[in-house]
Amino acid sequence: MTFKELGLAEPILKALEAEGYTHPTPIQEQSIPILLQGKDLLGVAQTGTGKTAAFGIPILHQLYEGISLRQTKRKVKALIVTPTRELAIQISESLTAYGKYTGLRNTVIFGGVKQGKQVNALRGGVDILVATPGRLLDLMNQGFISFRDLEHVVLDEADQMLDMGFIHDIKKIIAKLPPKRQSLFFSATMPKDIVELSRKMLGDFERVTIKPEQATAEKVEQGVYFVSKANKPKLLIHLIKENPENTLIVFSRTKHGANKIVKKLDQAGIRSAAIHGNKSQAARQKALSAFKDGNLKVLVATDIAARGIDVEDLSLVVNYDLPNVSETYVHRIGRTGRANASGTALSFCDKDERPYLRDIEKLIKQSVPRMPEHQFVDEDTPKDTGSQPSQPQRKQGNSRNKNRNRNRPGGNNFRGKNNRNSSRPKKRTDSNRSE
Ligand code: AMP
Repeated sequence: MTFKELGLAEPILKALEAEGYTHPTPIQEQSIPILLQGKDLLGVAQTGTGKTAAFGIPILHQLYEGISLRQTKRKVKALIVTPTRELAIQISESLTAYGKYTGLRNTVIFGGVKQGKQVNALRGGVDILVATPGRLLDLMNQGFISFRDLEHVVLDEADQMLDMGFIHDIKKIIAKLPPKRQSLFFSATMPKDIVELSRKMLGDFERVTIKPEQATAEKVEQGVYFVSKANKPKLLIHLIKENPENTLIVFSRTKHGANKIVKKLDQAGIRSAAIHGNKSQAARQKALSAFKDGNLKVLVATDIAARGIDVEDLSLVVNYDLPNVSETYVHRIGRTGRANASGTALSFCDKDERPYLRDIEKLIKQSVPRMPEHQFVDEDTPKDTGSQPSQPQRKQGNSRNKNRNRNRPGGNNFRGKNNRNSSRPKKRTDSNRSE
């Protein structure tokens, strides 16, 4: 299947070609025909699957086809609501790229900055509005936005909106939209509240499901290190220094933890930056831009700040802390291996986090391959570390292993995308599946 076969308008095909998109991803292949028929859609999928283009392209196509009907002043005809500022900016950038030959205009509004520039952009007239819920409701209440001409609405990352406490804002926003519209609802997971919300928002809809296991386990190579809490910084520094060419995101469960990691890396002469909710929007954007441009190799992030962030050629995701909510693991490792690329995710697991690892393995229905032993082992590393029975030294006592590994040049090294070696985590096979 090609984009041309989907019957898209010429200017959109031209833009997709310029982006280097040759074939639609599964979610695009399934969603675009449904949306081009004007139907509502429930998409159970996470970012990284090509979701933005799956909803963005049909909206651009439909607006472009109706362009001759447009009055002189542009009116908001499509609204996309997404939980974080970073995601909103990213969606807006994608729409600009996909729609660059259509003459359609989009703008993005989000909180944490003064509203003046955003209000001016709205006054100038836009076809598509991308927004975070709080600022959107605020500007709606101030009378800066009219949805009288709205034809399409997308609710993106609905489950994260729920987690972030936006559900009431969302309900208020939906209540103010014209009832005759095309509605799209995307969520990575479908807890009860989200099912209810989707029922309220969608009319007669079709459902497309892209399973997280499909999106991650098949493309992302995974590995776990058993390491004590105290040794986590050393292991991280070791991995970065071994492979300085890697671009990596380090996930921390807490904002304070993220700051501490940056400090430790700094002391080791490694430049990094943290993004989390306590950082100003300007600081977050600066760090993210430097990271995307390749000027910053290491980004330390909390889950909320990093969800959905799209960075090309991200070689590695490090779970410095294992998340206590298993779905978060899937979101995190989905930062790498996006669209058709492959990637690697390495997790640090201390003894308190082992129950989290078990939950994750249950969710993804596979065991995360154990990395070979290294000099920073957890004192309580279980004897059965799972996946590499071919290594007899694993069966011996930890202290002996520790000493031997300390003397091993390079210890355990991970080489990143372009530099495969034997210590790279293996994809699951029956022989490396843990008991
Ligand atoms: P998303 O899930 O929308 O955040 O997309 C994840 C990444 O996949 C982004 O870098 C997109 O530019 C890229 N992408 C989306 N669709 C395609 C496609 N059909 N071919 C190649 N890359 C794509």
